[in-house]
Amino acid sequence: MERDYQGTYTGIYIVTWCSVYMSYSLRVVVVGLVQGVGFRPFIHRIAVKSGVKGYVRNIGGSEVEIWIEGSKENIEKFFQYFVDEIPPTAIIEEIHIFEERLRGFNTFRIEKSLNSMFKRSAIPPDIAICRDCLREVLDPNNRRYRYAFNSCAWCGPRYSMMYRVPYDRENTSMAKYKLCNLCYSEYTDINNVRRYHAQGISCPIDGPRLYLYTSNRELVSCDDPLSEVAKLINEGYIVAIKGIGGYHIACLATDDDVVQKLRKRKKRPTKPFAIMALNIDIIEKLVYVEPPIARQILESPQRPIVLLPKREDSPVSPYVSPGMDVEGVFLPYTALHYLILAETKDKFAIMTSGNIHGEPMCRDEECVFSKLSSVVDYVLIHDREIVHRVDDSVLRFTDGEPVIIRRSRGYAPLWIRTSKHLSKPAIAFGAHLQTAGAIAFEDKIVLTPFIGDLDSVEALNDLVYELEFLIKSYNIDVSSSRIVVDKHPEYMSRTIAFEYVEKYGSELIEIQHHYAHILSVLADHSHSIDLDDGDIVGIAIDGVGYGDDGAIWGGEIIAVGIDSYKRIAHLRYVPITSDRDTVYPTRLIPLYLAQIMPLSEVMEFVKELKLYESLPRRLDEIEFLLELITRKRFVYTSSMGRFLDAVSALLGVCRYRSYEGEPAILLEASARGGRELKELYIPRPIIDIDNLPAIDTPKILFRVIELLREGYDVKDLAYTVQLRIGEAIANIVLDYAKGRRNIQNIVVVSGGAAVNTYIVRSLKRVLSREGIEILLPRRVPPNDGGIAVGQVYALMLMDSR
Ligand SMILES: [Zn+2]
Ligand SMILES: [Zn+2]
Repeated sequence: MERDYQGTYTGIYIVTWCSVYMSYSLRVVVVGLVQGVGFRPFIHRIAVKSGVKGYVRNIGGSEVEIWIEGSKENIEKFFQYFVDEIPPTAIIEEIHIFEERLRGFNTFRIEKSLNSMFKRSAIPPDIAICRDCLREVLDPNNRRYRYAFNSCAWCGPRYSMMYRVPYDRENTSMAKYKLCNLCYSEYTDINNVRRYHAQGISCPIDGPRLYLYTSNRELVSCDDPLSEVAKLINEGYIVAIKGIGGYHIACLATDDDVVQKLRKRKKRPTKPFAIMALNIDIIEKLVYVEPPIARQILESPQRPIVLLPKREDSPVSPYVSPGMDVEGVFLPYTALHYLILAETKDKFAIMTSGNIHGEPMCRDEECVFSKLSSVVDYVLIHDREIVHRVDDSVLRFTDGEPVIIRRSRGYAPLWIRTSKHLSKPAIAFGAHLQTAGAIAFEDKIVLTPFIGDLDSVEALNDLVYELEFLIKSYNIDVSSSRIVVDKHPEYMSRTIAFEYVEKYGSELIEIQHHYAHILSVLADHSHSIDLDDGDIVGIAIDGVGYGDDGAIWGGEIIAVGIDSYKRIAHLRYVPITSDRDTVYPTRLIPLYLAQIMPLSEVMEFVKELKLYESLPRRLDEIEFLLELITRKRFVYTSSMGRFLDAVSALLGVCRYRSYEGEPAILLEASARGGRELKELYIPRPIIDIDNLPAIDTPKILFRVIELLREGYDVKDLAYTVQLRIGEAIANIVLDYAKGRRNIQNIVVVSGGAAVNTYIVRSLKRVLSREGIEILLPRRVPPNDGGIAVGQVYALMLMDSR
């Protein structure tokens, strides 16, 4: 007999079951995040307390199997303890209970793990150091005083050090560290709540060791590498530090010269650096920790970087995040980071990814000494292998709501469950820039950690490595799986996917980029939104995505039904001539204007506004650009990103892009504290193109030019134009919804530009008046890091028909 319950947290339900059970022998299979969180020792403890006999063991799909025998009373007690004392980081999603024949166990023990699989379960992510472990590290009388690698059943690295599942020490890079006698006695002491059977534990006697090197790989002899690193940082040196999922680069965040030195060496002129701070009190000196949930997120076991509004009196150098109104801050998630920061003079420091431009973060010594030797002065290494590269996760707030923009450490590879089931597994290869892949089976989607841009061989290898790990761990048969790709012919993810199709003969499915964006939100909210209840309108706004008509889409309003999608409106097409138009966004302005006036007039505006001044080849460049238009040497784009870039350049906010999204990000920052200008108003900025309404972005841009000439404030213009574009989109949605019955009162928003506070705010303002709710993704990044989720969800919808 089997009883199933599927949900996110089951505690409360178990009580009602156990009174039902009259049997004396039960086999219980628990699915969720139950490995690597102290679950088996917990079960052992409560089994002993409640007097039941049997065993507990990990099984190969990352689930846990429990066998209990005892009187009805004992078993009831067991389940009561189960509900009351569950480990803090465990997540229980399913419990399968089978009545079994009595085997007559006379003890309860933790059995050797089974490699076969009953149900697939969650692979544990890395968990930040817990309070108890930190307390030990700071206690001079504790044997783990100042021990950089302290961890317990509830905390520490997991995924980043796993060679294979299940999560047992011999399957991790802790395998080579043999427990000392003291650790072994903790490991075998059932009353030691945090260390009994905890797989990753160690101490200063038996654990990983730290070594400090110069960037030329010369060992620096010192008693305490942690103090030495803090001293070096205080003196203005730049130090690479090996952490859980890769290398960071650390240095002072308060010294302009040091920050600029780092920028120069890293060839990273303006892209913001994150700051790690010792504790929340220090963070509050740098940023406003608001809304209140921000504090909870900062202190969560995931410890992501959170982008928060800068304080006016922040001591941080303006070169850390030039032009930004927010600072990326996070708390230490290992003892190593904590102990270093504690001895820095500021109690906070730049802690940015240890990579070179365009490549993933280094995770081994070979990479750090070959690639970062000209960036850093010193390197702090330890001898534990990093098996998986895991970047810091990043969250921001969009109109007060938390949005994850990089999903990695702490979150990956936890799965996202949906309300739909796949008939056979899927492998999704995602997009190209800032991307991630995914595998999926049953009702679960497992995103890889954040991979990054697929322009480098390293990143491509990473994508394959992470997908292969998940394929193997979850025992996915590739030949009978479906491979999902984006339609963009130049995405490298597509090239690799084709190799899989060739090798395994798997079925190939292409999913349009913006459709995938919208589906990623629907997947995230699938337990509350069902397309069977009616169509949903989705807004997908981003930089670049390959459209069904061969144009570059990026400002799309799409109606999604259970078995199809329909593009219902978009931003007006404008020509784009090359990548140079995005690097020097001033070039976009004449391209927009050319849609609404003769080229001779365009040239007049260019001269009057001196738009050529930021361009390397000045006026020649504009002349050449206009010639390309005459000769029709361009492609069309409906990109929201390009529109925001053009406005940003026009207002003088950003005229040279040094990283993806910079002009649009800075435009949003420049609008903070702006006021709404009634004068920036276009009665109905919508035109008809091939029977589809299109938002007349050139006309909006032209109106901004007019107001700029009249001397209106840049901040107010920046603020208002972002509201207006949101309004225009909202009005199109309303036009479409009017008189249509089979449509739900929910609009989902996704894409890289969907995190823009002002666009989302004005969407909400207009649509909520009509009783329409706006939903952003919660667990899935709205940018291309979430594309793979949407790609899979398209199959889930197909299969459910
Ligand atoms: Zn701990
Ligand atoms: Zn030890």
